[in-house]
Amino acid sequence: MIPNHLPTEELQALDAAHHMHPFTDGNALAAKGARVITGARGIWLTDSDGRQLVDGMSGLWCVNIGYGRDSLADVAAAQMKQLPYYNTFFQTTHPPVIALAERVAQLAPDDLNHVFFAGSGSEANDTNIRMVRHFWAAQGKPEKSIIVARKNGYHGSSVGSGSLGGMVAMHAQGGLPIPGIAHINQPHWYSEGGDMTPEEFGLARARELEAYIQEVGADRVAAFIGEPIQGAGGVIIPPESYWPEIQRICQQYDVLLIADEVICGFGRTGHWFGSQSLGIKPDIMTIAKGLSSGYAPIGGSIVSDRVAEGINAGGDFNHGYTYSGHPMACAVALENLRIMEDENLVDRAAEAGKHLAKTWQDRFADHPLVGAVESHGLLAALQLTPKKGSRSPFAADKGTVGTICRDACFANDLVMRHVGDRMIVAPPLIITEDEITEMANRAEKALNTALDTCTREGLLVAAS
Ligand SMILES: *Cc1c(COP(=O)(O)O)cnc(C)c1O
Repeated sequence: MIPNHLPTEELQALDAAHHMHPFTDGNALAAKGARVITGARGIWLTDSDGRQLVDGMSGLWCVNIGYGRDSLADVAAAQMKQLPYYNTFFQTTHPPVIALAERVAQLAPDDLNHVFFAGSGSEANDTNIRMVRHFWAAQGKPEKSIIVARKNGYHGSSVGSGSLGGMVAMHAQGGLPIPGIAHINQPHWYSEGGDMTPEEFGLARARELEAYIQEVGADRVAAFIGEPIQGAGGVIIPPESYWPEIQRICQQYDVLLIADEVICGFGRTGHWFGSQSLGIKPDIMTIAKGLSSGYAPIGGSIVSDRVAEGINAGGDFNHGYTYSGHPMACAVALENLRIMEDENLVDRAAEAGKHLAKTWQDRFADHPLVGAVESHGLLAALQLTPKKGSRSPFAADKGTVGTICRDACFANDLVMRHVGDRMIVAPPLIITEDEITEMANRAEKALNTALDTCTREGLLVAAS
C-alpha cells in the first residue's frame, strides 16, 4: 500500500523525461528506469512498489541518526515560522547560527573554534581554497598558494572542490583541475602497495608530500587536504604510519593541514571526528553530511584560532554564500547534534562498528570472491578478487565485477555501493546488531549470486 503517488512506470517515465541525475548515464538510466524511493524509517527505505530495502549507505553517507526523526521536522517548521531566512553578510547574525557555531566549536578538538558556514561540502571546500590562499596572502606570502591533494580523493563536485579531488573521470570533463592544485598518490596499500609492508608503504606515500614540497619550495605550498579515511574513493583506510608522517611534514614546512571530515565527521569512525580516530591535528576541518544527518543542506569549515586570526588580519574576506548559516538548516543541525548527544550515538557507533567488523570478517573473509575485509567504525569495505591471496585485480575492466555485485545487492533489497571492484557500506549509526546480521544476510546472497554470474561469464581471471 503506497499512497499518494503515480504508478512506478509513470514516475520513471517522467523522471527520465525531465530530471537529470548526478553522476549518471542518462540514456542508460532512462532505458532501465530509476528506483523510486518513497519513504524511510530507521535504516529502512521503502520503494514505490512497497519493497523494504536496507540502506547500507545512509543515503549518501549522511543520514547518521537514521530516517524518520520527527523532532527535526518540528524544529524546521518552528524556525521557518519564527525566522525563515536572514543573511549573515552585512554585520548581522541570528540565534540559530550563533548556537550552532558555538556547539560545533565545543565539539571540535583543540583550538578549532571558528566556523564558516556553507550549503554543502563542495562549497565548504571551495571556501577552504580561498581561505588558505587568503591566509598566506594576508601574511605577505601570496606565492604560498598551491594546495596538495590526493589522487582518488573526493572533496566535492564544484569546480574548486572537484579540482581538489583526484577523480580521473571528473577531471576529464569541464576543464578540471583549476591551476595551483597538485595531486600525490593515495595510501591504498591493497592495490598499490606492491611488495612493501603497509607501514613502509604508508610512509612512502606520505613522503611524496615532502618530495613535492622540496621540489617546488615550501614558500609556494599553502596547504594539504585529505580525508582521514577516503570515502567515495572506496573506503580506503590508510596504514597507521601515514597520517603521523603527513602531520610531521605539514608542521616542518609550515603547510596548513585540512582534514575533509565530510564523511568521517559526526560519529562515523566511532569518535566525533575522524581526525581524533586517526591522530590528526588539522588547521581546518571540512564538515557537511552528518552535521545535519542530511535532513537539511548545510556544510562548513571549522577553523583554528591561528587561521581565523590570520584571515581577520586581512580585512574583508570577500567570500560567502546566500545560505551561509541558513537559519532553518542551523536549527535542524542543532537538533541533530542534540539527538547524537542524548542518545550517545558516537559511542554506540563505536560499538556497532566493532560488531560490523566482526560480522563482515566472520561472514566474508573466506568467501571465494573476497580478497580483503577492511573496516573502521561504521565504514567497511569488501575488496573483490579473482584469485584469493593474490591482491591481483580482475582481467576484466575495472568495475565490471563490482557492478555485477552491486546489481545483485539491489536485487536483494540491499543498498551496498561499489567503487571499482570494492563493495562498501556506511550504515546509519543507529544500526542494531540484528540489523547488521540482516544486512550481512542480504550481502551474502548477493555475493553468492555475483560469484555464480562471474563463474558463468568467465570473469574469475586475474590480470596478468
Ligand atoms: C560528499 C563529500 C563532499 C562534498 O559534499 P557535498 O555536500 O556533496 O557538496 C566533500 N568531501 C567529502 C569527503 C565527501 O564525501
